[in-house]
Amino acid sequence: MENILVLTHADETGSALSKASLEAVTAGKELAARLSAPLTIGIVATDAAAAASTLASTGARILAVSGEAFAQSRYASDAAAAEALCHAANATIVLAPGASRFTRVAAGVAHRLGGFIDTHITTLGGTDTIEATRWFYRQRVEAVISRSVRPWFLLLDAGTHAAYAGESQPIQIEQVAVTLPALRTTVSGFRAPAQGQQTIRPDAKMLFVAGAGWTKKQPDGQIHVAEAGELILGFLRATGASLGSSKSLVDQGGEGEPVLPFLTHMNQIGQTGSTPRHAKGLSTCCHGEEPHVVGWRFIGDRRAISLDPNCGWTRGKADVVYIADAFPVMAKLNALLEAKKA
Ligand SMILES: Cc1cc2nc3c(=O)[nH]c(=O)nc-3n(C[C@H](O)[C@H](O)[C@H](O)COP(=O)(O)OP(=O)(O)OC[C@H]3O[C@@H](n4cnc5c(N)ncnc54)[C@H](O)[C@@H]3O)c2cc1C
Repeated sequence: MENILVLTHADETGSALSKASLEAVTAGKELAARLSAPLTIGIVATDAAAAASTLASTGARILAVSGEAFAQSRYASDAAAAEALCHAANATIVLAPGASRFTRVAAGVAHRLGGFIDTHITTLGGTDTIEATRWFYRQRVEAVISRSVRPWFLLLDAGTHAAYAGESQPIQIEQVAVTLPALRTTVSGFRAPAQGQQTIRPDAKMLFVAGAGWTKKQPDGQIHVAEAGELILGFLRATGASLGSSKSLVDQGGEGEPVLPFLTHMNQIGQTGSTPRHAKGLSTCCHGEEPHVVGWRFIGDRRAISLDPNCGWTRGKADVVYIADAFPVMAKLNALLEAKKA
């Protein structure tokens, strides 16, 4: 019989679980029900009672590691907390959100416990066994993995499960004591772009992709980079979409060509970029070449605006392609969005 442990941690408010943690709770609940196995949820937080309040209806045993030392992400304290929770739960299967906090420590904890880890898991299938699915070779090949080694750690990709949403109710929590090693790292705080400047929004419904065409000479023989920047930012403001880019566009800075100052390599989508998950995607001024489009593997509805009727998008890679000049199309779209808001 498997003992399933879901590792979770608080979000930046400290009083609720992170969205990725709640997604892992859903995965744990489904797996425990299918295998008729006991489910334990382990929480790492300053105030675990507040963070756990929505978990009562899971029916799971709740273990927690609490205290100031666990307020923020730090390898030594997070690894010690996860290790203690695994021991307390006697876990054979450990599910954890594949977000930065646990991704950093999970492999080390698996090693300490003599276990094995697989990352980027998207689904957990199988009937009596566990078959974990993940993509390889930049989302081109899907593999199904099963292992006999225990404990088996599985880091779940964000966006692959619905976030668990339970009523807030009183809940019984078992506190787990942790002996912390000497802490050499002091977390002095976070430095992050101001909210309005942050263009990468993994939880957004839509992905908006800018391609190199935005900075190319247009039919009037001129480049219009400032206008391009205003149109793109205007659309992001109006829709809350996440901003992606083609490689060609983000590479231009290094080549001394005109650039959009709010784009970095972090925005790049594709084989050498990221593969985000959004319900919809709109690509603009981008050719739709395969190394770019492979990053769209998990975008639901794909649309593109390109001047080129022969571009990669038109060859079956997008659901809808508008053969049009993106400048007037986006200007009109932004005006319609503004009018709708007003
Ligand atoms: C090993 C390897 C890895 C790679 N990894 C990636 C990756 O991760 N991500 C990635 O993106 N690329 C990647 N590439 C590069 C990729 O093959 C393409 O070169 C790149 O995606 C092209 O970017 P683009 O479509 O923005 O630019 P371009 O190919 O220059 O296309 C610009 C498009 O904009 C259109 N356009 C111009 N003006 C307008 C307008 N006013 N309205 C509408 N359309 C307009 C043009 O018709 C053209 O189709 C990789 C390549 C290799 C070899």
